[in-house]
Amino acid sequence: MRRGAITRESVLQALVEHDELGREAFLSKYGFGEARSYVLVYEGREYDSKAIAGVAHKWAQDRALAPHEFSGGKDHAAAWLKRLGFQVRAVKNPDWARDEIILACHLVMTNDWKGLDAQDSRVIELSALLQLLPIHADADRTDKFRNLNGVARKTFDIATRHPDYRGKPTNGGALDVEVLHEFLARPDQMTEVARLIRVGITSGELQALAQPDDEELDDDFEAPEGRLLLRRHRARERSKALRKKKIDSVLRKGGSLACEACGFDFEDVYGERGAGYVECHHVVPLHEAGEGSTKLSDLALICANCHRMIHRRAPWPTPAELRTSIQHRRSTRGNTSARIVPQRSKPAEHAAIQADQQ
Ligand SMILES: [Zn+2]
Ligand SMILES: [Zn+2]
Repeated sequence: MRRGAITRESVLQALVEHDELGREAFLSKYGFGEARSYVLVYEGREYDSKAIAGVAHKWAQDRALAPHEFSGGKDHAAAWLKRLGFQVRAVKNPDWARDEIILACHLVMTNDWKGLDAQDSRVIELSALLQLLPIHADADRTDKFRNLNGVARKTFDIATRHPDYRGKPTNGGALDVEVLHEFLARPDQMTEVARLIRVGITSGELQALAQPDDEELDDDFEAPEGRLLLRRHRARERSKALRKKKIDSVLRKGGSLACEACGFDFEDVYGERGAGYVECHHVVPLHEAGEGSTKLSDLALICANCHRMIHRRAPWPTPAELRTSIQHRRSTRGNTSARIVPQRSKPAEHAAIQADQQ
């Protein structure tokens, strides 16, 4: 049985069964709970989308899916139903992303670490700005998405987590606390991050970069500055034209395309197939990169493996720092295990993935 292989007809049959049994009996018969994230809207009525998708399997494929076999969200039930042309609506707003918390935290900081109420003009302005961030898809938002009350509440969640606040925190999650502490530790830098996000959104530049399934959502890409500035960083270093300019200028000066961190040279190892190939890493920290255009001197030549390792955990090492750490490991480990061994490292595979994305 292939999960998700349901038809529009089988969904309609599940809806009929739901209506005959009644919601409660239908859910308990198949072991589902009430929808927490998405509902299916059909002929003006709302249905628990995950339960309907699971039971549709019974009509399409002889066996209903059990709740633990699939998710109700964007990956499974909601996506399958949408694909069949059904209307699926979010019932709960998505959690605040780091970028959104950065903007809210900045506002609280400028208000002497006090929460703001919903009528405050700065809350009204932030609410409007948050609607524009290309982070959460429209289909995942309810009509209360980042509304005035929600934004005001968030400012109190942050303010009441401040170390000087005497009293019980209102609410909020671990990410609020994390971002708050980043603002306390590096106020100037985080203020600049908030400014860059704002400018990027008001100019439309960050929306133009938006790609919902892009690579930085992957667990192996991490930046305390948030997803939007990371997206811009990746776009700058993936730019084919920029990369070509950088490679040409290095070659023109008689340089080589060896990785600046580990020395790996694609042509050395792969011959003709690897000739002229290397990735670019944008070395300027995200909060310093500004809105302007990229200079060739901002780009470092880096192999696919080292590039992954730089982005894997924040704070990102510079190519020189990574180089020092590689050299240190080589010398302390007797120059064996950390040596570049083409058969064991997998630059070919990463390189192919990168090439596909160009
Ligand atoms: Zn390398
Ligand atoms: Zn990079």
